[in-house]
Amino acid sequence: MLDEAGGPIQFVRRFEAERDGPRLDWLVYRWSRGIDLTLLFLGLRRLFEQGVTLRRLFTRGLRPEHTSAREALDAAVEDLRDAVLSEAWRAKVDAPSFEALPRGLRFILVRPADGSANKRWNMFLRWMARSGREGVDLGLWTELPPSKLLMPLDTHVLRISKFLGLIPKEQGTWRVAEALTARLRRLDPDDPTRYDFALAHLGISGLCRGFRDAEACPRCPLLPVCDAPSP
Ligand code: SF4
Repeated sequence: MLDEAGGPIQFVRRFEAERDGPRLDWLVYRWSRGIDLTLLFLGLRRLFEQGVTLRRLFTRGLRPEHTSAREALDAAVEDLRDAVLSEAWRAKVDAPSFEALPRGLRFILVRPADGSANKRWNMFLRWMARSGREGVDLGLWTELPPSKLLMPLDTHVLRISKFLGLIPKEQGTWRVAEALTARLRRLDPDDPTRYDFALAHLGISGLCRGFRDAEACPRCPLLPVCDAPSP
């Protein structure tokens, strides 16, 4: 569908709720539904029409009035919310406020101000800002210094970080993301999120089962410093 339109950006620029929305109705992925994407595309199209690119939206954290990553991300997601709300009528969604939007979209458009760890947005920013040298990230937004990024928290990162004593509890909140990033900044002040892949991979690969395991742990390089509980 995107290829037919000439690529993702053209698809969004030309997106019409009545014509293209029904083609997304089949989509069900975890908490996301087709209507969530329809509304998101409408919001993005509105921003693009106003000359606001994703790059501009998310790198305004460099503006002097934003003193933290939290403020910058709050402002970016807030603008995206406003754009979606002003276009929702095109998809016949009656949403006078953010709370009236479909649940799946509210999940995507969550802000640090809501207490969320904002894993998805922090992951997106990591892809865009970190250098592509290691073959993991894209490094396209060079004006966003990796030192400003926050750790994207997922189950695996939380669990391993707790085992290593980097965070006190496995809680996916913005405060914990800040606390973990601060700990990792001591190891690399310029690029604290470089440890994301290493922390997540032990769990993603299936090696770490979340507890002491006689078969797996002897093969794990973290064994000497791991404080995981017994099963
Ligand atoms: S030592 Fe065992 S429990 Fe600890 S991180 Fe490694 S695999 Fe997981």
